Amino acid sequence: KTFDDCSFSPQLKNAIAKQGYEKPTSIQCQALPIVLSGMDIIGIAKTGSGKTAAFVLPMIVHIMDQPELAKEEGPIGVICAPTRELAHQIYLECKKFAKSHGIRVSAVYGGMSKLDQFKELKAGCEIVVATPGRLIDMVKMKALTMLRATYLVLDEADRMFDLGFEPQIRSIVGQIRPDRQTLLFSATMPRKVEKLAREILSDPIRVTV
Ligand code: AMP
Repeated sequence: KTFDDCSFSPQLKNAIAKQGYEKPTSIQCQALPIVLSGMDIIGIAKTGSGKTAAFVLPMIVHIMDQPELAKEEGPIGVICAPTRELAHQIYLECKKFAKSHGIRVSAVYGGMSKLDQFKELKAGCEIVVATPGRLIDMVKMKALTMLRATYLVLDEADRMFDLGFEPQIRSIVGQIRPDRQTLLFSATMPRKVEKLAREILSDPIRVTV
């Protein structure tokens, strides 16, 4: 398998090549066709598998497919991660591919000035990468609206549960349109995560690496 098998634009293929990604990893081979077809997915994968690009690349395609992109406010893609370290890594991976497409990415997590984040979000973005608590703070402060979001990623869902973020995750999911595409990644699938997946994903395909 190669990235050429995916329905990526020449521009996105260039960006992938520029990163030195020669061929898709196992999770990418399995997940990319499913996610690109618009289906929900449960990905059982750990860090190091290339799972980030498996949700970031289709997100770029999803955003570029939106008509009248510049007119509306609020992110189209929302990514939740358990820690600021992971959120930052995902942010960097998004930037690699978003930049050449004119897509703006904002990172929202604790330890950064709320006022700076507020200002950045107010300026607008198409992708937001966030830890759940801080994202809710920003929504409450009306720094952003989730009305336009149609692509939701929950990364390391098991760790988010371990850290007690279940109520925040449920609150965020409740604010995003039900006709969204939802992707859930987790290293393990404890019963509580399984239950959440049943509730918030529609007919998900499960892939494991
Ligand atoms: P992740 O599991 O998403 O944290 O990715 C682990 C590392 O693999 C990151 O440094 C990525 O930039 C890199 N990576 C992701 N996909 C590929 C690929 N297809 N080929 C080479 N490196 C990759």
